[in-house]
Parts: sequence; structure tokens; C-alpha cells
Amino acid sequence: MKLLLHMCCGPCACYPVKKLREEGIEPVGYFFNPNIHPYKEWQQRLETAKEFASATGLELLTDENYMLRDFLSKALPAEAQDNGRCRMCYTWRLEQTARFAAENGFDAFTTTLFYSIYQQHTLMRETAEIFADKYKVDFFYEDFRPGWQEGIDISHELGLYRQPYCGCIFSEEERYSKTLRKQRKVAAKEKRLAVQQTVNDLGGR
Ligand code: SF4
Repeated sequence: MKLLLHMCCGPCACYPVKKLREEGIEPVGYFFNPNIHPYKEWQQRLETAKEFASATGLELLTDENYMLRDFLSKALPAEAQDNGRCRMCYTWRLEQTARFAAENGFDAFTTTLFYSIYQQHTLMRETAEIFADKYKVDFFYEDFRPGWQEGIDISHELGLYRQPYCGCIFSEEERYSKTLRKQRKVAAKEKRLAVQQTVNDLGGR
């Protein structure tokens, strides 16, 4: 099977590439990540993806356009919807991967995002299925999350740069802003209390 493996970065590719090779599949990597900012971070993740490919003998195709403005023009309106930004981000990357796979003679596509324990796995799977259907190319589904620690160990062995946040400037703020973290804690507490109140009200009937 000729498989196109979308790669969000180098470290997240460590386990999926190993696993796929064990299954007898030699994937071709594809770096397309308009969600990564700022520029130096994007450049570093791109270089790390190349470093990983070279260390492991993986063929890697890269889209080297830095697309901050395009990303913002899509992300800002999407922020108005619940979970809209990440939904848009998965949609953009998975649609491009499916289209690229179809246009370049691949049998199937998948992504290293299915390795991450932090991403929205079910949403990504549903999104990938939509574009597999649209572009008439197979979506190869595999849950790589069981190899989470193994992937981390491999990335350390290879000395790869490991990024501290998901990718976009919003996620960078969410990672480092104490104010934002505090606001989230308060919101989560309020939500818990509201649920408890509903349970109490129902029990009181
Ligand atoms: S948090 Fe991650 S998945 Fe969500 S929009 Fe930002 S980069 Fe994309």
C-alpha cells in the first residue's frame, strides 16, 4: 500500500513510522502545518521533521509555505463557535492531505495526529473519513496512542526537538498564560457546580 503519512512534527512521527514499518508499510511523510506559529517555531518543527526523516530513512515531502495570515483569517471567525478553531485546523490539514494523496497516486492517507493523547481523536477520525470520501482515496485508520511513551523514548534517543505547545499562537498562550489557566479553572469549577445543582434539583423532584 502506498501510504501518505501527514506529519505534524518529528517527535509525533517516531512511533507511527516504527509501527507502520512493523506492519510492512513504508509510508511517505508529508509536512503540511499552516497552524504552527510563530515563524521560528514553524521553522524548527519543519527542520526537526527533516532531521527525523533523514535519521530513519523516511521519504518526506514538505509544504514550506508559512501561512500565519491564512491561518488567522480562518481561525478568528472559527473562534466564535464551540471548538471551532481546532475543528477548522483539523479540517484544513486533513483535507489537504487527502487531496494531495489523491492527486499524487497514493492509495491511502493518515496522520501522526492519531498518535497524540492531546488531540481530539474522534473528531479527527470523522473529519478524515469525510475527505477520504470526497477525494476517493482510502483513509488508513490506526490508533497510535498506545505507543505514546515509546514514541517519546525514540525522540529522546534521536535527540529531536520536542515542542512545548500544540502549534498555533492561541495554544501557545493557553500553555503559558497564568491568567488564562486561572480563568479555565474557574470556568471548570462553575460547570461542575452547575451539573451538581442539576443533579440535586432532579433528585429533589
Ligand atoms: S490548539 Fe492545536 S489543533 Fe487547535 S487550532 Fe491550535 S494548533 Fe490547531
